[in-house]
Amino acid sequence: MLIEHFKYMQKVLFFNTKSLEKEEFRPITEGEVGMYTCGPTVYDYSHIGNMRAYVTADILKRILLQDYKVRHVINITDVGHLMTDEDNGEDKMEVAAKREGVDAWALSRKFTEIFWKDFSDLGCLPPEERPKATDHISEQIELIKKLEKKGYTYQIADGVYFDTRAFPRYKDFGRLPNEEKGKARVEENPKKRNQSDFALWKFSQKEEKRQMEWESPWGVGFPGWHIECSAMAMKYLGNHFDIHTGGVDHIRVHHTNEIAQSEAATEEIFVNYWVHTEFLLVEGKKMSKSLGNIVTLSDIKQKGYSSADLRALFLMTHYRTQMNFTWEALSGAKAALSSLLSRLAGEEVKQDDEIDMKTLEEFLSLLNDDINTPQAFAHLLSFVKKKEKGEGRLATVAIMGEFLGLDIITLLNEQKKEREEAPEEVMKLIEEREGLRKKKDWGAADMMREKIEAMGYEVSDTEEGPRIQKK
Ligand code: AMP
Ligand code: ZN
Repeated sequence: MLIEHFKYMQKVLFFNTKSLEKEEFRPITEGEVGMYTCGPTVYDYSHIGNMRAYVTADILKRILLQDYKVRHVINITDVGHLMTDEDNGEDKMEVAAKREGVDAWALSRKFTEIFWKDFSDLGCLPPEERPKATDHISEQIELIKKLEKKGYTYQIADGVYFDTRAFPRYKDFGRLPNEEKGKARVEENPKKRNQSDFALWKFSQKEEKRQMEWESPWGVGFPGWHIECSAMAMKYLGNHFDIHTGGVDHIRVHHTNEIAQSEAATEEIFVNYWVHTEFLLVEGKKMSKSLGNIVTLSDIKQKGYSSADLRALFLMTHYRTQMNFTWEALSGAKAALSSLLSRLAGEEVKQDDEIDMKTLEEFLSLLNDDINTPQAFAHLLSFVKKKEKGEGRLATVAIMGEFLGLDIITLLNEQKKEREEAPEEVMKLIEEREGLRKKKDWGAADMMREKIEAMGYEVSDTEEGPRIQKK
């Protein structure tokens, strides 16, 4: 990677959920960063809202690579995430496996594989570690034993719970209101001492055999979702590490619980900086499986957009701002990217190209200031418009692109290849469509147009015949 060779030594600032302030980043160990990102629950496809959170973590990692060796851990939650984040309902994995009539392990393998494929397709750098919760059951049991010894746990009929009242700072991180007595919601577990208490270990029910279950000192069962992340984060990054990321929905429950159980067990600070990405919305509502409004990367591709178009769209909204997803906006991002590539077409990077350091520094001072991708991306676009061809233009853009996770050189090569190869196939379809139009088979001709459009070309019918244009 190019970016690791540049030492700009500029300040890196980002907003810390812990302090609610923008802070300058300072590592625990000189030259190194430990970063943990809550990964997917692999019972279904990840949607592009989930992907938005991973892209934020990826850009943050790229920023940090300027000056640090980054150890990034992203877990796979393949057991224990219940239907609500507050530990109510059944295990998402078991429910989905039953519904699909498949083995929970096979389900997890399938969606884990699809997740990592989408992740790398979106240009996210591979994490240094990608632990699965089911491979770390003994670490989770050890952590619960530690908590038990220190008096933070209690057992009721359905599991072992963390007593949040025993950890006085419990409400601080999420600025949670005091629990109001008598206001318990219907689905809450009446046997819990406090409604905010959460399961560390859940017991398998006698009447129903689970597919995923393990022996433990407390009985056969499975771990809670929150303890998984604490156990895996501490195993790979130590009791106290630099950065933890996730979506804003995790602040009040999942991350609050991770902090409580980790700090109660180790008596050390768990994490210094917490970075949370705002929601991706559809028509004003959070994109989520339960609302049935999800869009996946494969939906995007089926409509003729690329993963780079989606990344460009993500870049255009700051990670701490809610982002409304529309196909028109994606179209706009695609147009911006394609006009950028058209301007750069034909240029090449040469050995002795001079990098425009002033532009690069300006770009980084924007990006390093709370991961400001909209301004940094705009700076890149305006640089290409202003600067003459040659003079190291492409080399400078390639480095800026790398910080944003856009591989400009590869995109240019793909564009070149497309221009050389596609027209012949497209021309064939155009000819077929002309034949259909002569026969006045408008329905079939329209279907042919859709095919052509899916291949990235637009056809307009002029007096001189059909005209094709790249979308
Ligand atoms: P999950 O698979 O539900 O545990 O979610 C994986 C990650 O995506 C978590 O960090 C969530 O906070 C995040 N996430 C879920 N839905 C959205 C959304 N609509 N927009 C942005 N991030 C989301
Ligand atoms: Zn987590």
